[in-house]
Amino acid sequence: MNVDYLVVGQGIAGTMLSYSLMQAGASVLVIDEYKENSSSRVAAGVVNPVSGRRFTVAWLYDEIYPVALRTYREMEGLLGLPVYKERDLWTVLPSEQLRAAFFDRTTGLDYMRLPSSADVARYDKWLDQPFGAAIIKGGTVLLQQLLPIWREYLKKHNSLLEERYQPSQLQAKANGVTYGDIQAKAMIFCDGAQTPLNPWFNAIPFLLNKGEVLTVRVPGFETEDIVKRSISMVPVPGQNDIYWVGATFAWDYPNENPTAEKRIFLESGLRQLLKVPYEVLDHQAAIRPSGTDRRPMLGMHPEMPSLGLFNGLGTKGSSLAPAMAAQMTAHLLRNAPLAADTDIKRFFNRYKD
Ligand SMILES: Cc1cc2nc3c(=O)[nH]c(=O)nc-3n(C[C@H](O)[C@H](O)[C@H](O)COP(=O)(O)OP(=O)(O)OC[C@H]3O[C@@H](n4cnc5c(N)ncnc54)[C@H](O)[C@@H]3O)c2cc1C
Repeated sequence: MNVDYLVVGQGIAGTMLSYSLMQAGASVLVIDEYKENSSSRVAAGVVNPVSGRRFTVAWLYDEIYPVALRTYREMEGLLGLPVYKERDLWTVLPSEQLRAAFFDRTTGLDYMRLPSSADVARYDKWLDQPFGAAIIKGGTVLLQQLLPIWREYLKKHNSLLEERYQPSQLQAKANGVTYGDIQAKAMIFCDGAQTPLNPWFNAIPFLLNKGEVLTVRVPGFETEDIVKRSISMVPVPGQNDIYWVGATFAWDYPNENPTAEKRIFLESGLRQLLKVPYEVLDHQAAIRPSGTDRRPMLGMHPEMPSLGLFNGLGTKGSSLAPAMAAQMTAHLLRNAPLAADTDIKRFFNRYKD
Protein backbone atom coordinates (compact mmCIF):
# COMPACT_ATOMS: atom_id res chain seq x y z
CA MET A 1 0.00 0.00 0.00
CA ASN A 2 1.18 3.52 -0.83
CA VAL A 3 0.06 6.76 0.84
CA ASP A 4 1.51 10.24 0.75
CA TYR A 5 1.69 10.67 4.54
CA LEU A 6 1.47 8.52 7.63
CA VAL A 7 0.24 10.44 10.68
CA VAL A 8 0.70 8.92 14.15
CA GLY A 9 -1.99 10.07 16.59
CA GLN A 10 -5.53 11.40 16.28
CA GLY A 11 -5.81 14.00 18.99
CA ILE A 12 -6.54 17.56 17.89
CA ALA A 13 -3.07 17.72 16.26
CA GLY A 14 -3.46 14.56 14.16
CA THR A 15 -7.08 15.41 13.39
CA MET A 16 -6.32 18.88 12.06
CA LEU A 17 -3.18 17.81 10.21
CA SER A 18 -4.88 14.86 8.50
CA TYR A 19 -7.85 17.10 7.61
CA SER A 20 -5.60 19.80 6.20
CA LEU A 21 -3.50 17.35 4.16
CA MET A 22 -6.58 15.59 2.77
CA GLN A 23 -8.22 18.89 1.86
CA ALA A 24 -5.06 19.76 -0.05
CA GLY A 25 -5.38 16.53 -2.05
CA ALA A 26 -2.81 14.35 -0.25
CA SER A 27 -3.57 10.77 0.78
CA VAL A 28 -3.15 10.05 4.48
CA LEU A 29 -3.18 7.05 6.78
CA VAL A 30 -3.62 7.85 10.48
CA ILE A 31 -2.31 5.32 13.03
CA ASP A 32 -4.01 5.84 16.39
CA GLU A 33 -4.44 3.67 19.41
CA TYR A 34 -7.59 4.86 21.17
CA LYS A 35 -6.74 6.38 24.53
CA GLU A 36 -9.59 7.30 26.85
CA ASN A 37 -7.59 10.02 28.60
CA SER A 38 -5.62 11.56 25.75
CA SER A 39 -5.10 15.27 26.26
CA SER A 40 -7.61 16.17 23.54
CA ARG A 41 -10.28 13.85 24.95
CA VAL A 42 -10.05 15.27 28.46
CA ALA A 43 -9.76 18.95 27.39
CA ALA A 44 -12.77 21.26 27.24
CA GLY A 45 -11.59 22.84 23.98
CA VAL A 46 -11.82 26.42 25.23
CA VAL A 47 -10.63 29.14 22.87
CA ASN A 48 -9.75 32.18 24.97
CA PRO A 49 -8.22 35.27 23.36
CA VAL A 50 -6.59 36.49 26.57
CA SER A 51 -4.48 34.91 29.25
CA GLY A 52 -3.14 35.77 32.67
CA ARG A 53 -4.38 38.14 35.34
CA ARG A 54 -3.49 41.18 33.22
CA PHE A 55 -5.58 40.01 30.28
CA THR A 56 -2.69 39.78 27.84
CA VAL A 57 -3.73 38.85 24.32
CA ALA A 58 -2.69 35.25 23.61
CA TRP A 59 0.29 34.59 21.33
CA LEU A 60 -0.57 35.24 17.64
CA TYR A 61 -4.27 35.23 18.51
CA ASP A 62 -5.32 37.75 15.86
CA GLU A 63 -3.64 35.64 13.17
CA ILE A 64 -4.61 32.18 14.30
CA TYR A 65 -8.22 32.74 15.35
CA PRO A 66 -9.58 33.63 11.87
CA VAL A 67 -7.91 30.48 10.50
CA ALA A 68 -9.37 28.38 13.33
CA LEU A 69 -12.87 29.75 12.85
CA ARG A 70 -12.79 29.29 9.07
CA THR A 71 -11.36 25.77 9.32
CA TYR A 72 -13.84 24.55 11.95
CA ARG A 73 -16.72 25.97 9.89
CA GLU A 74 -15.39 24.19 6.77
CA MET A 75 -15.20 20.94 8.73
CA GLU A 76 -18.79 21.40 9.84
CA GLY A 77 -19.75 21.67 6.15
CA LEU A 78 -17.88 18.45 5.35
CA LEU A 79 -18.99 16.45 8.40
CA GLY A 80 -22.53 17.83 8.73
CA LEU A 81 -22.29 18.46 12.49
CA PRO A 82 -21.28 21.41 14.69
CA VAL A 83 -17.66 21.31 15.84
CA TYR A 84 -17.14 24.86 17.07
CA LYS A 85 -19.33 27.09 19.21
CA GLU A 86 -18.66 30.77 19.78
CA ARG A 87 -19.30 31.60 23.43
CA ASP A 88 -18.77 34.38 25.90
CA LEU A 89 -16.39 33.77 28.78
CA TRP A 90 -18.21 35.19 31.77
CA THR A 91 -15.14 36.18 33.78
CA VAL A 92 -15.86 36.84 37.47
CA LEU A 93 -13.45 39.53 38.66
CA PRO A 94 -11.71 38.72 41.95
CA SER A 95 -10.90 42.31 43.06
CA GLU A 96 -11.32 46.04 42.33
CA GLN A 97 -7.76 46.10 40.93
CA LEU A 98 -8.53 43.40 38.42
CA ARG A 99 -11.71 45.19 37.47
CA ALA A 100 -9.65 48.31 36.75
CA ALA A 101 -7.06 46.25 34.84
CA PHE A 102 -9.79 44.75 32.71
CA PHE A 103 -11.30 48.17 32.05
CA ASP A 104 -7.88 49.42 30.84
CA ARG A 105 -7.48 46.46 28.48
CA THR A 106 -10.93 46.74 26.88
CA THR A 107 -9.93 49.91 25.03
CA GLY A 108 -9.35 48.93 21.42
CA LEU A 109 -10.03 45.21 21.85
CA ASP A 110 -13.40 44.24 20.46
CA TYR A 111 -13.44 40.83 22.12
CA MET A 112 -13.57 42.25 25.66
CA ARG A 113 -16.35 44.26 27.26
CA LEU A 114 -17.92 44.99 30.62
CA PRO A 115 -21.41 43.55 31.02
CA SER A 116 -24.57 45.55 31.69
CA SER A 117 -26.03 45.42 35.21
CA ALA A 118 -28.89 43.33 33.78
CA ASP A 119 -26.33 40.75 32.59
CA VAL A 120 -24.75 40.70 36.06
CA ALA A 121 -28.15 40.31 37.72
CA ARG A 122 -28.85 37.24 35.51
CA TYR A 123 -26.08 35.39 37.33
CA ASP A 124 -26.60 36.80 40.83
CA LYS A 125 -28.65 33.87 42.08
CA TRP A 126 -25.93 31.41 41.06
CA LEU A 127 -22.54 33.12 41.28
CA ASP A 128 -20.65 34.98 43.98
CA GLN A 129 -19.37 38.04 42.11
CA PRO A 130 -18.86 40.96 44.53
CA PHE A 131 -16.51 42.75 42.08
CA GLY A 132 -18.68 42.09 39.06
CA ALA A 133 -17.67 40.31 35.91
CA ALA A 134 -16.21 40.90 32.46
CA ILE A 135 -17.15 39.40 29.13
CA ILE A 136 -14.53 37.97 26.79
CA LYS A 137 -15.55 36.65 23.37
CA GLY A 138 -14.19 33.13 22.89
CA GLY A 139 -15.54 29.71 22.10
CA THR A 140 -15.21 25.97 22.48
CA VAL A 141 -14.20 23.30 20.03
CA LEU A 142 -16.67 20.49 20.59
CA LEU A 143 -13.91 17.90 20.95
CA GLN A 144 -16.24 15.17 22.21
CA GLN A 145 -17.99 15.41 18.84
CA LEU A 146 -15.15 16.36 16.52
CA LEU A 147 -12.70 13.59 17.46
CA PRO A 148 -15.11 10.64 17.04
CA ILE A 149 -16.71 12.10 13.90
CA TRP A 150 -13.31 12.62 12.29
CA ARG A 151 -12.34 9.09 13.30
CA GLU A 152 -15.45 7.74 11.54
CA TYR A 153 -14.64 9.85 8.47
CA LEU A 154 -11.10 8.43 8.36
CA LYS A 155 -12.45 4.88 8.71
CA LYS A 156 -14.94 5.42 5.90
CA HIS A 157 -12.11 6.61 3.66
CA ASN A 158 -9.80 3.69 4.59
CA SER A 159 -7.49 6.20 6.22
CA LEU A 160 -7.28 4.83 9.77
CA LEU A 161 -5.22 2.06 11.36
CA GLU A 162 -6.59 1.54 14.86
CA GLU A 163 -3.51 0.18 16.53
CA ARG A 164 -0.46 1.14 18.52
CA TYR A 165 2.40 2.52 16.43
CA GLN A 166 5.23 -0.05 16.49
CA PRO A 167 8.71 1.50 16.14
CA SER A 168 10.06 -1.88 14.97
CA GLN A 169 7.86 -1.63 11.83
CA LEU A 170 9.41 1.65 10.70
CA GLN A 171 12.21 1.95 8.20
CA ALA A 172 13.07 5.57 7.49
CA LYS A 173 15.21 6.78 4.61
CA ALA A 174 15.86 10.33 3.45
CA ASN A 175 13.35 10.02 0.59
CA GLY A 176 10.53 8.14 2.34
CA VAL A 177 9.42 5.64 4.97
CA THR A 178 8.21 2.07 5.02
CA TYR A 179 5.93 1.05 7.87
CA GLY A 180 5.16 -2.69 7.69
CA ASP A 181 3.97 -3.04 4.09
CA ILE A 182 2.99 0.63 3.74
CA GLN A 183 5.13 3.11 1.85
CA ALA A 184 4.86 6.86 2.36
CA LYS A 185 6.75 10.05 1.62
CA ALA A 186 6.90 10.84 5.33
CA MET A 187 5.62 9.91 8.76
CA ILE A 188 4.47 12.77 11.00
CA PHE A 189 4.26 12.18 14.75
CA CYS A 190 1.22 13.79 16.37
CA ASP A 191 1.37 11.50 19.38
CA GLY A 192 1.25 14.15 22.08
CA ALA A 193 2.91 13.22 25.37
CA GLN A 194 4.38 10.05 23.81
CA THR A 195 6.84 11.93 21.56
CA PRO A 196 9.55 12.34 24.26
CA LEU A 197 9.92 8.53 24.17
CA ASN A 198 10.67 8.59 20.43
CA PRO A 199 14.44 8.25 19.86
CA TRP A 200 14.27 10.56 16.82
CA PHE A 201 12.82 13.42 18.84
CA ASN A 202 13.92 12.77 22.41
CA ALA A 203 16.43 15.66 22.35
CA ILE A 204 13.55 18.14 22.18
CA PRO A 205 12.98 19.80 25.56
CA PHE A 206 9.43 18.78 26.42
CA LEU A 207 7.92 20.07 29.64
CA LEU A 208 4.88 17.82 29.91
CA ASN A 209 2.30 18.77 32.48
CA LYS A 210 -0.63 17.01 33.99
CA GLY A 211 -4.10 18.54 34.11
CA GLU A 212 -7.12 17.36 36.08
CA VAL A 213 -10.80 18.15 35.51
CA LEU A 214 -14.14 17.38 37.11
CA THR A 215 -17.54 16.89 35.53
CA VAL A 216 -20.22 18.38 37.79
CA ARG A 217 -23.96 18.91 37.83
CA VAL A 218 -25.24 22.22 39.19
CA PRO A 219 -28.97 21.53 39.50
CA GLY A 220 -31.03 24.14 37.66
CA PHE A 221 -28.09 26.30 36.52
CA GLU A 222 -28.14 26.55 32.74
CA THR A 223 -26.01 28.84 30.62
CA GLU A 224 -24.24 28.76 27.25
CA ASP A 225 -21.37 30.87 28.64
CA ILE A 226 -18.08 29.62 29.99
CA VAL A 227 -18.05 30.79 33.61
CA LYS A 228 -14.61 31.55 34.95
CA ARG A 229 -12.80 32.68 38.05
CA SER A 230 -9.81 30.68 39.36
CA ILE A 231 -11.31 27.68 37.55
CA SER A 232 -13.50 27.49 34.45
CA MET A 233 -16.94 25.92 34.13
CA VAL A 234 -17.63 24.91 30.55
CA PRO A 235 -21.12 23.71 29.56
CA VAL A 236 -21.10 20.11 28.33
CA PRO A 237 -22.91 20.21 24.96
CA GLY A 238 -26.49 18.96 25.05
CA GLN A 239 -26.53 18.38 28.83
CA ASN A 240 -28.39 21.27 30.43
CA ASP A 241 -26.86 21.73 33.90
CA ILE A 242 -23.65 19.69 33.49
CA TYR A 243 -20.24 21.36 33.34
CA TRP A 244 -16.62 20.46 32.76
CA VAL A 245 -14.64 22.11 35.58
CA GLY A 246 -10.92 22.70 35.23
CA ALA A 247 -8.16 22.66 35.01
CA THR A 248 -5.12 22.09 37.23
CA PHE A 249 -1.41 22.08 36.37
CA ALA A 250 1.34 19.80 37.73
CA TRP A 251 4.84 19.42 36.30
CA ASP A 252 5.89 16.73 38.72
CA TYR A 253 3.60 13.71 38.88
CA PRO A 254 4.09 9.99 39.50
CA ASN A 255 1.37 8.79 37.09
CA GLU A 256 -1.60 9.88 34.95
CA ASN A 257 -4.27 9.15 37.57
CA PRO A 258 -6.61 11.74 39.09
CA THR A 259 -5.57 12.82 42.60
CA ALA A 260 -7.46 13.71 45.77
CA GLU A 261 -5.29 16.85 46.15
CA LYS A 262 -6.36 18.33 42.80
CA ARG A 263 -9.98 17.41 43.38
CA ILE A 264 -9.86 19.47 46.59
CA PHE A 265 -8.31 22.36 44.62
CA LEU A 266 -10.98 22.24 41.92
CA GLU A 267 -13.80 21.96 44.40
CA SER A 268 -12.53 24.90 46.42
CA GLY A 269 -12.50 26.99 43.20
CA LEU A 270 -16.02 25.85 42.53
CA ARG A 271 -17.24 26.73 46.03
CA GLN A 272 -15.64 30.19 45.71
CA LEU A 273 -17.57 30.74 42.47
CA LEU A 274 -20.94 29.13 43.13
CA LYS A 275 -23.62 30.17 45.62
CA VAL A 276 -25.51 26.90 45.03
CA PRO A 277 -24.78 23.20 45.61
CA TYR A 278 -23.21 20.97 42.98
CA GLU A 279 -22.59 17.25 42.55
CA VAL A 280 -19.33 15.77 41.20
CA LEU A 281 -20.03 13.19 38.48
CA ASP A 282 -16.54 12.40 37.20
CA HIS A 283 -12.84 13.21 37.68
CA GLN A 284 -10.23 12.79 34.92
CA ALA A 285 -6.58 13.55 34.30
CA ALA A 286 -4.42 13.85 31.18
CA ILE A 287 -0.95 14.99 30.16
CA ARG A 288 -0.53 18.19 28.13
CA PRO A 289 2.23 18.00 25.51
CA SER A 290 4.15 21.25 26.08
CA GLY A 291 7.68 22.39 25.42
CA THR A 292 9.94 24.54 27.56
CA ASP A 293 9.46 27.59 25.28
CA ARG A 294 5.67 27.04 25.17
CA ARG A 295 5.55 27.20 21.38
CA PRO A 296 4.31 24.63 18.88
CA MET A 297 6.82 22.15 17.47
CA LEU A 298 6.50 21.66 13.73
CA GLY A 299 8.74 20.34 11.02
CA MET A 300 10.93 17.57 9.74
CA HIS A 301 13.89 16.01 11.47
CA PRO A 302 16.99 17.76 10.08
CA GLU A 303 18.88 14.48 9.68
CA MET A 304 15.95 12.30 8.58
CA PRO A 305 13.66 14.49 6.46
CA SER A 306 11.05 11.75 6.07
CA LEU A 307 10.18 11.97 9.81
CA GLY A 308 8.25 14.95 11.08
CA LEU A 309 6.66 16.32 14.22
CA PHE A 310 3.46 18.24 14.87
CA ASN A 311 3.27 18.76 18.61
CA GLY A 312 3.79 21.22 21.46
CA LEU A 313 0.27 22.65 21.37
CA GLY A 314 0.41 22.96 25.15
CA THR A 315 -2.62 24.63 26.73
CA LYS A 316 -3.91 26.03 23.43
CA GLY A 317 -4.51 23.05 21.16
CA SER A 318 -7.99 24.16 20.09
CA SER A 319 -7.00 27.61 18.91
CA LEU A 320 -3.54 26.76 17.54
CA ALA A 321 -4.09 23.43 15.76
CA PRO A 322 -5.85 24.67 12.57
CA ALA A 323 -3.32 27.42 11.74
CA MET A 324 -0.36 25.22 12.67
CA ALA A 325 -1.75 22.34 10.57
CA ALA A 326 -2.08 24.72 7.60
CA GLN A 327 1.55 25.81 8.10
CA MET A 328 2.74 22.20 8.31
CA THR A 329 0.72 21.22 5.23
CA ALA A 330 2.23 24.06 3.17
CA HIS A 331 5.65 22.94 4.37
CA LEU A 332 5.05 19.30 3.42
CA LEU A 333 3.39 19.92 0.05
CA ARG A 334 5.14 23.06 -1.19
CA ASN A 335 8.24 23.21 0.98
CA ALA A 336 6.98 26.55 2.37
CA PRO A 337 9.25 27.72 5.19
CA LEU A 338 8.06 27.30 8.77
CA ALA A 339 8.12 30.23 11.18
CA ALA A 340 11.40 30.21 13.13
CA ASP A 341 9.62 30.10 16.49
CA THR A 342 7.61 27.00 15.59
CA ASP A 343 10.16 25.07 13.47
CA ILE A 344 11.71 22.18 15.41
CA LYS A 345 15.08 23.14 13.91
CA ARG A 346 15.36 25.51 16.87
CA PHE A 347 16.04 22.47 19.06
CA PHE A 348 18.84 21.13 16.87
CA ASN A 349 21.70 23.57 17.44
CA ARG A 350 23.65 22.63 14.36
CA TYR A 351 20.70 23.44 12.11
CA LYS A 352 19.65 26.78 13.53
CA ASP A 353 19.63 29.54 10.89
C1 LIG B 1 -7.05 18.91 31.56
C2 LIG B 1 -6.72 19.60 30.28
C3 LIG B 1 -7.49 20.68 29.88
C4 LIG B 1 -7.21 21.34 28.68
N1 LIG B 1 -8.02 22.35 28.28
C5 LIG B 1 -7.79 22.95 27.08
C6 LIG B 1 -8.68 23.93 26.60
O1 LIG B 1 -9.70 24.25 27.22
N2 LIG B 1 -8.37 24.54 25.42
C7 LIG B 1 -7.27 24.19 24.68
O2 LIG B 1 -7.05 24.75 23.61
N3 LIG B 1 -6.42 23.24 25.12
C8 LIG B 1 -6.65 22.62 26.30
N4 LIG B 1 -5.82 21.65 26.74
C9 LIG B 1 -4.62 21.35 25.94
C10 LIG B 1 -4.96 20.56 24.70
O3 LIG B 1 -5.82 19.56 25.07
C11 LIG B 1 -3.71 20.03 24.04
O4 LIG B 1 -3.00 21.11 23.47
C12 LIG B 1 -4.06 19.05 22.92
O5 LIG B 1 -4.97 18.10 23.35
C13 LIG B 1 -2.84 18.34 22.41
O6 LIG B 1 -3.28 17.51 21.38
P1 LIG B 1 -2.37 16.45 20.68
O7 LIG B 1 -3.15 15.93 19.53
O8 LIG B 1 -1.02 17.01 20.45
O9 LIG B 1 -2.15 15.28 21.77
P2 LIG B 1 -3.19 14.19 22.31
O10 LIG B 1 -4.53 14.74 22.46
O11 LIG B 1 -2.57 13.56 23.51
O12 LIG B 1 -3.27 13.13 21.15
C14 LIG B 1 -2.28 12.17 20.91
C15 LIG B 1 -2.92 10.99 20.20
O13 LIG B 1 -1.88 10.09 19.82
C16 LIG B 1 -2.26 8.78 20.17
N5 LIG B 1 -1.03 8.01 20.40
C17 LIG B 1 -0.03 8.32 21.26
N6 LIG B 1 0.94 7.38 21.17
C18 LIG B 1 0.53 6.48 20.24
C19 LIG B 1 1.10 5.28 19.71
N7 LIG B 1 2.29 4.81 20.11
N8 LIG B 1 0.40 4.61 18.78
C20 LIG B 1 -0.80 5.05 18.36
N9 LIG B 1 -1.38 6.17 18.83
C21 LIG B 1 -0.72 6.88 19.75
C22 LIG B 1 -3.11 8.94 21.42
O14 LIG B 1 -3.95 7.83 21.60
C23 LIG B 1 -3.88 10.22 21.09
O15 LIG B 1 -5.05 9.92 20.37
C24 LIG B 1 -6.10 20.94 27.89
C25 LIG B 1 -5.34 19.85 28.29
C26 LIG B 1 -5.65 19.16 29.47
C27 LIG B 1 -4.84 17.97 29.86
